[in-house]
Amino acid sequence: MASGNPFFDDLQSKPEVIDPPQNEDILDGESVNDPTQPTTKPNLVVSSSVRELLECPVCLNAMYPPIHQCSNGHTLCSGCKPRVHNRCPTCRHELGNIRCLALEKVAASLELPCKYQSYGCVGIYPYYSKLKHESQCSYRPYSCPYAGSDCTVVGDIPFLVAHLKDDHKVDMHSGSTFNHRYVKSNPHEVENATWMLTVFSCYGQYFCLHFEAFQLGMAPVYIAFLRFMGDDNEAKNYSYSLEVGGNGRKLIWQGVPRSIRDSHRKVRDSFDGLIIQRNMALFFSGGDRKELKLRVTGRIWKEQ
Ligand SMILES: [Zn+2]
Ligand SMILES: [Zn+2]
Ligand SMILES: [Zn+2]
Ligand SMILES: [Zn+2]
Repeated sequence: MASGNPFFDDLQSKPEVIDPPQNEDILDGESVNDPTQPTTKPNLVVSSSVRELLECPVCLNAMYPPIHQCSNGHTLCSGCKPRVHNRCPTCRHELGNIRCLALEKVAASLELPCKYQSYGCVGIYPYYSKLKHESQCSYRPYSCPYAGSDCTVVGDIPFLVAHLKDDHKVDMHSGSTFNHRYVKSNPHEVENATWMLTVFSCYGQYFCLHFEAFQLGMAPVYIAFLRFMGDDNEAKNYSYSLEVGGNGRKLIWQGVPRSIRDSHRKVRDSFDGLIIQRNMALFFSGGDRKELKLRVTGRIWKEQ
């Protein structure tokens, strides 16, 4: 599937690349760059048919240069071309190596709204830079931060908070300090990773506290870290500390929450959190090494 074309790879996972614009006057030259001043001269017929022309008949994604065509003029995207064995998928004639420069130029003249318009983005972008914007658009939805499943839910923060609560039955707490106990009866089964997620709300924001067991090289360890439900630039306004201890020993971690734009796995694999060796964890648990009993206390604060 990977085509080596960054546009195409992005499109593969997101079939609806070009959403129907809500104001259809996108081809109007005067005001395309000023989304706050939509004109009322519609060019609906042209824009929607051009967008249809730019849809690859095989994968239905928007096409980006090089756009190919057969000798009869049927077009095809560069990602699909190597997969059709030199046969035009529309007329079955030999495909050859003809590029459709005219269509590429028409595409270059298009300006379309960001596909996250429904999430609040008002930007309108030239066809060829739209994908780049969308990959960084601050309105783009977040992925569900729940780590224990391959959840594919995306949405804005209020939506995800409700989703975590209702669909994943995640514990919700309000306040900026916490005191959590993690108990597991067989601490030697690191393989079936113990992990937990708790959501805290404070300062009008939401934070995800992750706790889990994983294998660090040969050593089984536990890690606890905080993620911020929002973008990275805002996450940096907060700090947090975590403490775990027992038997007169104590480990303290202070860090900056990571945005949930960074995957749970990425944060974990960068060890950006409180890491507890299993032997130490069992020591903290105080008992007979048959049960893991960790008390993690923490605090979140806003940096001035
Ligand atoms: Zn295609
Ligand atoms: Zn053809
Ligand atoms: Zn946008
Ligand atoms: Zn989910």
